[in-house]
Amino acid sequence: MQLPIPPSLYDLTREQLTDRLAEWGEPVFRARQIWHWLYQRLADSIDAMTDLPRALRDRLKQTYALGRMTAVAEQHSSDGWTRKWLFRLADGSEIETVLMEYDGLRRTACVSSQAGCAMDCSFCATGQMGFLRNLRAGEIVEQVIWVARALRAKTDGDERLSNLVLMGMGEPFANYNNVMEAIHRLMSPEAEGGFGLGARKITVSTVGLVPGIRRFAEESVQVNLAVSLHAATDALRNQLVPINRRYPLRELVSATRDYLRKTNRRVSYEWAMIDGVNDTVEQAEALVELVRQTNPRPDANLVHVNMIPLNPTGGYAGRASRRARIEQFRDVLARAGIPNTLRVRRGIDISAGCGQLKAETAQAAPEKQTSG
Ligand code: SAH
Repeated sequence: MQLPIPPSLYDLTREQLTDRLAEWGEPVFRARQIWHWLYQRLADSIDAMTDLPRALRDRLKQTYALGRMTAVAEQHSSDGWTRKWLFRLADGSEIETVLMEYDGLRRTACVSSQAGCAMDCSFCATGQMGFLRNLRAGEIVEQVIWVARALRAKTDGDERLSNLVLMGMGEPFANYNNVMEAIHRLMSPEAEGGFGLGARKITVSTVGLVPGIRRFAEESVQVNLAVSLHAATDALRNQLVPINRRYPLRELVSATRDYLRKTNRRVSYEWAMIDGVNDTVEQAEALVELVRQTNPRPDANLVHVNMIPLNPTGGYAGRASRRARIEQFRDVLARAGIPNTLRVRRGIDISAGCGQLKAETAQAAPEKQTSG
């Protein structure tokens, strides 16, 4: 028989923590104290919360775990700027988290929102492994705290996490409530002991779930949105991103346009450059047209195209576009005045593409057993 898994302190909202402490007859300032240990001191155990009375620490330990995941693999890229973890959750499912540093200025955590993914994008390693379950809000939060702790340990406390992207495993809008709850938790103000991440430093990336985009437009927080487009015609997008059959480009563009009209915030269209597949001039021209249709204010450049050379994965035969093709594609966008960036492939030597570390350890596991 399995022992029940205690809830994690990261699963609690500030209100839930406050209520629980009130039930226990604790003075009101304890909630702030514990919150501060969790989100600013980044405590790695309940015992480390040394200014709490012993009896309260014991009670907390009987009721909650601090966190509920363990690192089962960790990789560093050869240039030292990218680190990646494979975490095992309390129920045994595994997820990936990445830390990317950019010249020591921007330090971005890339976190998972689900274990596996049901969207089945053909070129994506996570899609190839299928869907396991939604992550709890606390499990999304805990990935961020883990990365922040690692950063602090590496730099003696000098460096803090500056950005958060939900671009790891899973489709954030298929786990909408938990994702938003995690975001709100991480935005909890520093003055109140919270992590204090600014909404503008957070980006949610969606495969294009239209109801999710519409709902996101109504949120009060100013979090950034990225849409994984990858193809500018339904025929091609149906192949690469099968959810396109349910939410075709016309609906996706219309929802994104409404989001822009409502929020006036910049959106980026993500484009994995796949050799000979979606890097043609025809696709670039169709993309220019889609961007025009999406942007409600042509004077304001609200739509940005973010290209990334494909990270090859085991279940997909495609390869990264060649340099000349990428230049040609960019020229079409540039001539149309569309802002665009070519993302450098970070951590290619550590399989830092979505779901790739998990796919790799799954293959490597039997070998490890025989040699160990
Ligand atoms: N479900 C979300 C988050 C997925 S991962 C979404 O679809 O946006 C974040 C980005 O990485 C997405 O744009 C996704 O399409 C892209 N991606 C997935 N596999 C990739 C690969 N092998 N090479 C390059 N980009 C990839």
